Amino acid sequence: MKKRVCILYTGGTIGMVPTEHGFAPKKAYFSTLLDEIYQLKDPDMPLWDIVEFDPLLDSANVAYEQWVSIGRAIKERYDYYDGFVILHGTDTMSYTASALSFMLEGLAKPVVLTGAQIPLCQLRSDGRDNLINSMVIASEGVVNEVCLYFAGKLLRGNRSTKTSADELMAFTSPNFPALANVGIDIKYNHHVLNQIPKSNKFKLVEFKQTPIGVLKIFPGIQFELFEQIISEKLKGVVLETFGDGNIPNNESSLVNSIQRVSAKGSVIAVCSQCYQGTTKLGTYATSNDLKSFGAVGCMDMTTEAAIAKLYYLFSMDYDIETIKNLMGKNLRGELSE
Ligand code: ASP
Repeated sequence: MKKRVCILYTGGTIGMVPTEHGFAPKKAYFSTLLDEIYQLKDPDMPLWDIVEFDPLLDSANVAYEQWVSIGRAIKERYDYYDGFVILHGTDTMSYTASALSFMLEGLAKPVVLTGAQIPLCQLRSDGRDNLINSMVIASEGVVNEVCLYFAGKLLRGNRSTKTSADELMAFTSPNFPALANVGIDIKYNHHVLNQIPKSNKFKLVEFKQTPIGVLKIFPGIQFELFEQIISEKLKGVVLETFGDGNIPNNESSLVNSIQRVSAKGSVIAVCSQCYQGTTKLGTYATSNDLKSFGAVGCMDMTTEAAIAKLYYLFSMDYDIETIKNLMGKNLRGELSE
């Protein structure tokens, strides 16, 4: 029987047109572009339908509400399709991929996010190849997880990060191998794929609005200016620290702020600014305070995944100790324990 793929078109460069204010999505236009791609009518293509979101967004405007809308769109159609392709802007695609990886619990079908660096309406668009390969991957059913396809690589969604504003390969997965390399053949790395959940039935965990902050540490940071930001109003704070989790400890105000909000119940999640590698709190004296105040090391998680995971754990209404504990545990392949 022919496989069925559902395309969820949320916006992004792939369907944008030039306007006097710069590139922007255009309502009811994308389908006319698809009509011109003859490969989409090829007998080897799966059957497909497209759902256009309203409003179409530049992904800079995507927030947790859109993650929930995408999750609901998948849930409503889950039994009818063999796989899903989400067309999305590249700017926040890794955030959405990370969020969906946590929201779609017990997922047993491919959900592939893709898009383009050059709009489909332009001569050298990369959108056509990204779309076609994503649709084939979504129909093949080899992966059972949320992934991101771009320029010949299939990446685990919650391991991906946008690393180029102008290359056609806009994404990398610094701490995890590609799920598949797409050349003449699609070569899956079977040994790294998430397994089909055995008992866990598919279910959507809808995220709730959650006050989360991200603070990137830099040399000479004037901590006193950030005291208002790092407050207990934030349920979760992702700290982007130096190296394997280090912050300056020769000046007390950040350390004090962190201790104060941590004691009041905020979760301090420690990521690294390094492109590659893992946090190891306590290796240096400069990360020891964080460790003793109960901050959690996010190991080799991306900042995108750490933010999404905080949304998920708070939306599950777990208590703080459980959230801290689960931040350091592998739930969806987002970190290497
Ligand atoms: N600003 C665009 C977006 O994220 C960029 C893109 O899609 O490549 O929607």
